[in-house]
Amino acid sequence: MNFVKTMSNNKTNKTNSPSRSRWHKPLVRNIKRVEQSNPNKVQTPQSEFKGGLHIIPLGGNEEVGRNMTLFEYGGDIIILDMGMQFPEEDMPGIDYIIPNINYLKGKERRIKGVILSHGHLDHIGAAPILLHNLSYPLVIGRDMTIAMVKKKMEDFQKGSSQYLKAKRIKSVDEKITLGKFEVEFFDVEHSIMDAVGVIIKTPEGTVIHPGDWTMEKGPVDGKSLTYNHLAKLPSPRILMLESLGAIVGDAGRVSEEEMYRNLQKLIYEAKGKVVIGTFSSQIKRIGHILEYAEKIGKKVALDGYSMKMNMEIAKQLGYVKAHKDTLVSVAEIHKYPENRIIIVCTGAQGEGNAVLSRIITDNHKYIKIKKNDTVIFSSSIIPGNERTIQRLKDSLYRKCDNVIHSDIMDVHISGHCSAQDIQKMLIQVSPQFFLPVYANYYMLKEAEKLAVKTGFPKEKIFVLDNGSILEVKKGRAEVLLKKVDASYVMVDGLGIGDVGEVVLRDRTQLAQDGILVIVAMIDGESGQLRGKVEVHSRGFVYLKSSKDFIGEINVLVKDIISKTSSKDHTTNWGYVKDNLRDKIGEFIFKRTERRPMILPFIVEM
Ligand SMILES: [Zn+2]
Repeated sequence: MNFVKTMSNNKTNKTNSPSRSRWHKPLVRNIKRVEQSNPNKVQTPQSEFKGGLHIIPLGGNEEVGRNMTLFEYGGDIIILDMGMQFPEEDMPGIDYIIPNINYLKGKERRIKGVILSHGHLDHIGAAPILLHNLSYPLVIGRDMTIAMVKKKMEDFQKGSSQYLKAKRIKSVDEKITLGKFEVEFFDVEHSIMDAVGVIIKTPEGTVIHPGDWTMEKGPVDGKSLTYNHLAKLPSPRILMLESLGAIVGDAGRVSEEEMYRNLQKLIYEAKGKVVIGTFSSQIKRIGHILEYAEKIGKKVALDGYSMKMNMEIAKQLGYVKAHKDTLVSVAEIHKYPENRIIIVCTGAQGEGNAVLSRIITDNHKYIKIKKNDTVIFSSSIIPGNERTIQRLKDSLYRKCDNVIHSDIMDVHISGHCSAQDIQKMLIQVSPQFFLPVYANYYMLKEAEKLAVKTGFPKEKIFVLDNGSILEVKKGRAEVLLKKVDASYVMVDGLGIGDVGEVVLRDRTQLAQDGILVIVAMIDGESGQLRGKVEVHSRGFVYLKSSKDFIGEINVLVKDIISKTSSKDHTTNWGYVKDNLRDKIGEFIFKRTERRPMILPFIVEM
């Protein structure tokens, strides 16, 4: 999946810190743990379970994103996906969340492999951190996926991709042995190249997991996929199914072919330049546009970091065949007649500083919208963004006569299943157990209802929470009482280290939650606090009416300084400041659910 942001998580998703550069520090320093919403359900990780196959979702079962599932059998562990939870990376003010791997601590040697279903960030985005923390286990995926992981690792920390131990899946017919697991693959259809379905075989059961998937009607490459062959796999078959489309009906759904026909017609007939806003994760679509442009002699300019990066990888692997002259930089578009230019960019969600918004608000250095241009929103609306997109469209309609979005013409399809697809899949695979996964809880429950409607026995459907353990043993399945820690792990930072975005994020934070400045005078010799700690607030709380609260912050500041400084001149003040930022931030968040920017100043006297 590539787009949905879970609104409730965004609140806890911001950083306390100003724009410090994070990427030169050890990886672990960037990761913060925050409390889970329901701490009662976390129990101490159990080291050994007796017998059976254990399926443990660490993320992706209560949200869209941070997809990661553990399979444990006979002491061996394999992992499917290592995703992060986060919206498009060009949305300001937002960090991301990764799966919690507490349960795997001390079990690193038992991890026989990490299979990555495809290269979208909600499936691989946490890999740079988690692979590092798990001492780089073997990673299995198709070419595009492995290339994306490598790029992500390099973005996260330069040079780190040299530690990646990767096994490429060369063909879906390949069979590999990972410890006591036999792993096989099958083709799936999704919006990125090289998505693959995974079959995990153990003597206790066969897990079938397509990753993200859709059953498109008439996909452009001709073949419509069916899954009847999976019904021949040994039972009990456990179907784990990404169920994001459980609430999406088939009615009015167009085929990939129709969507491309619509896009091509718009591009072909455009009298001015064409601007297409889409998700950077729609790699197949962007590739298709590029190839079509070349066919009709138009030039394409990509704008948006992730979009350029993804297309670069797809081209290198030969998945997008375009002459190098077809792609031009946005700075060069003025060299061509307007009707020969197509701009593909991110920001169709109205994200403040993203490319499309900048174009529409006349803040783009190279691209200005004219009346006869064609602007196409080739994306769905992420829930919560409706108003922003509406405003964006309104200002666009003032500037341009040809604005096309999905309400007018089918210029987007999602790459995910529909409710009917889920039912078809269930009938074709005919599993003994059904686990809807990789979506919000309500979608998983809707998928359960869909299954029941096909006659699937309700008692054999398991909607697992993150951290639940499903044990499959002797043909039976049950959810164990024990749970493993699946609480949030927040990553404080932006993977691409782009100053512009960091500054923007700080601004968002300042605008929403204000700033708190802490000034402490320290005796340089003794390392001890001298005099009163000063606390200043702007846009956070009104100090005069919050005396008690500020008093508590004062006490906490003194306490943190005395605990983190040494009694002589050897104190590491950077460390003290980091502690102040983190601990005061946590304290304030617990009390107010706000995250003001915290700036600690330590003045040595
Ligand atoms: Zn995906």
